[in-house]
Amino acid sequence: MSQRINPIRGMKDFYGLDCSKYQYIVDTATQISARYGYQLIEIPIVENTEIFQRSLGDESDVVSKEMYSFIDKGGENITLRPEGTAGVMRAISSNGIFVNDNQPLKFMYYGPMFRYDRPQKGRYRQFHQIGFEHIGEKSPYTDVLSIALAVDILHEIGLADVCVHVNSLGGFDSRQLYTTELVKYFKKFENELSEDSKRRLLKNPLRILDSKDSRDCEINLNAPKIRNYLNEHDATYFQKVLDLLDLLDINYIVDQKLVRGLDYYTHTTFEFKTNSEQYSDALGGGGRYDGLLEMFGGSDVSGVGFALGVERLMMLIDYKPTVLLKVAIVAVSANEFDSAFMLNKELLDNSISCELITGGNNLKKRVELAVKRGCSLLLIIGNDELKDNSVTLTRVNDKDNRSVTIPRYSVVLRINELSQEFRHSH
Ligand code: AMP
Repeated sequence: MSQRINPIRGMKDFYGLDCSKYQYIVDTATQISARYGYQLIEIPIVENTEIFQRSLGDESDVVSKEMYSFIDKGGENITLRPEGTAGVMRAISSNGIFVNDNQPLKFMYYGPMFRYDRPQKGRYRQFHQIGFEHIGEKSPYTDVLSIALAVDILHEIGLADVCVHVNSLGGFDSRQLYTTELVKYFKKFENELSEDSKRRLLKNPLRILDSKDSRDCEINLNAPKIRNYLNEHDATYFQKVLDLLDLLDINYIVDQKLVRGLDYYTHTTFEFKTNSEQYSDALGGGGRYDGLLEMFGGSDVSGVGFALGVERLMMLIDYKPTVLLKVAIVAVSANEFDSAFMLNKELLDNSISCELITGGNNLKKRVELAVKRGCSLLLIIGNDELKDNSVTLTRVNDKDNRSVTIPRYSVVLRINELSQEFRHSH
């Protein structure tokens, strides 16, 4: 026997219930975000590597360790997208899509992302995100509308206990002042910091606050807090964000270590967590970014966005697929197969889910196959039915073993009635 072939480490196949769950989450997010004025954008899975290097920052874990980058056959350095924001900005610029503060753009995207990370529960090398970008309109209102959109989606799919972790990194001036203070503080512990954080101290000290290393975490405890370094404008902006979260009754905590991993964030940053004991990592996160679109040759407008990790949502939600009445068309003998085949097509054309049972070498076997496939209504065509243009309807698992023979022209109408009864009883 030939050897079983496994997928690439950290990547997995979705099928059956997982696919319905994935689709349900995407559909819910699409519907809710459409109400908020978002429209779908579909962008390539690969981009020039530079797109990510430029926007995420060389020091981010994503760029420095996790990118799937290749030289393609034409010698281009390309990367499987590790996130969606950079690609959306590139797309707006490439397509010359107009945006300014009075004419904002709201895009939703979804699909696979790739990071060469250490696989573990809720962490994969190919994973899926649903992302949202609201470009233009820099204000606390838009920040909080983004957060509210995420909370609405999470609530709708059944995650009631969402807590938003929120922080402000301030604008350029506040951030610079804070960074200077941070460097002074971390210099005192330079020899104790992890190797990664020693490097960050030179290149991007804010990212030390993001470290998972236990000694770094201890040092971080007493580090200066960003809120004390926000200038008046940035502090007022952040306070307004918090007030609006209160107005919407959104459950949040201010988490001053929340710098997020990527370089492009300014002002409000946020992540979504649940109180579930099953999983404590973030379900999604995002924040405001200034200058990102301009970096790709677009206009100088600010944006706010976030992404939700689909695998983590799939792990936590209690999803029950809608059960539909499933119909099987069964011919008694080979003589009736053509007629059964045509009835199957007629039902499909009338939007009825049905399956033509072609296996099994007698009626009993075909009925067994239909039951195995989860069909609960059998439409049987035998010699008699063929002769008088009728169909026999039999319910699976019907104690009273009721069968009725009805004219063929009335089958669609009858199945639609039975489908409704079935929906009400499930
Ligand atoms: P990030 O922008 O890196 O915070 O990612 C946003 C969300 O995507 C996270 O909160 C996760 O839900 C999800 N995510 C990020 N990386 C992975 C991964 N390697 N595997 C699964 N989900 C991920």
